[in-house]
Amino acid sequence: MDSQQLNGRVALVTGGDSGIGKGIALAMAKAGAKVLVNYAHNHEAATEVVNEITSAGGEAFAYQADVSHEQDVQGMFAKLVETYGGIDILMNNAGLQQDATFVDMTLDQWNKVINVNLTGQFLCSREAAKQFIKQGVTDGRNAAGVILCMSSVHEVIPWAGHVNYAASKGGISMFMKSIAQELAPKKIRVVGIGPGAIQTPINKEAWDTPEALDKLLTLIPYGRIGQPEDIGKLAVWLASDDADYITGTTIFMDGGMTLYPGFADNG
Ligand code: NAD
Repeated sequence: MDSQQLNGRVALVTGGDSGIGKGIALAMAKAGAKVLVNYAHNHEAATEVVNEITSAGGEAFAYQADVSHEQDVQGMFAKLVETYGGIDILMNNAGLQQDATFVDMTLDQWNKVINVNLTGQFLCSREAAKQFIKQGVTDGRNAAGVILCMSSVHEVIPWAGHVNYAASKGGISMFMKSIAQELAPKKIRVVGIGPGAIQTPINKEAWDTPEALDKLLTLIPYGRIGQPEDIGKLAVWLASDDADYITGTTIFMDGGMTLYPGFADNG
């Protein structure tokens, strides 16, 4: 694999200050992309990611924007175009959980998760698509741009106690496919990424004690929790011209979590 396969590309990673987004921002920078590291609140963490990239010889800057706010998103894209002249890759990564049993779930919990996880991807993708169409396919590239949509195994696995989250990820699946269908003639690829359990702050209670980790591992046939670097490598490849014929599908990266391991000796 060409380690500089994103050379000269410009990438925007939402929620690039933590967990999977951080892993993707670092991996894309290592592959040669200039990176806008978006963050919601944690300026210090975003600055650390930028410093890690620049001290390794890469280019990056941090930008605060709430992906669920239209004006924030438009301001972020304007700043990106002003700074790097355009965009080649949008990594819609930002997401959160607000868990509750169904009957206890408040409208605020429902709206918060749908607004960030789903509407955030709509707002960012729309700005990216407009810019990709304006730029067209430039010299030496196969696509006008690539939009990667962070989904989850919960795009297909129902999740009691997390219906807002599962609904947001199920929504991302049809959002991703529908815009992929609409944008393919413009040479824009749109691809979903469906991680299983990746070791990040979002699911700390599922791995931070040996008992919790043992329980989690019963759901993962491959026998280990995933790391942000795993997803970083996948995102780099999906964004590169090596993945040029992939659009409108979700690539699951889950150590077999979607294989319904409960059926291995129980069917
Ligand atoms: P994380 O909590 O470490 O990171 C979440 C990121 O989203 C943070 O950078 C945060 O700043 C950002 N964010 C939250 N609200 C935002 C907003 N309004 N505007 C901009 N940014 C915002 O968790 P993570 O595990 O790295 O999650 C990243 C993505 O991966 C999410 O979409 C999550 O649903 C998805 N995912 C995670 C796992 C896992 O096991 N960790 C599995 C499947 C999918």
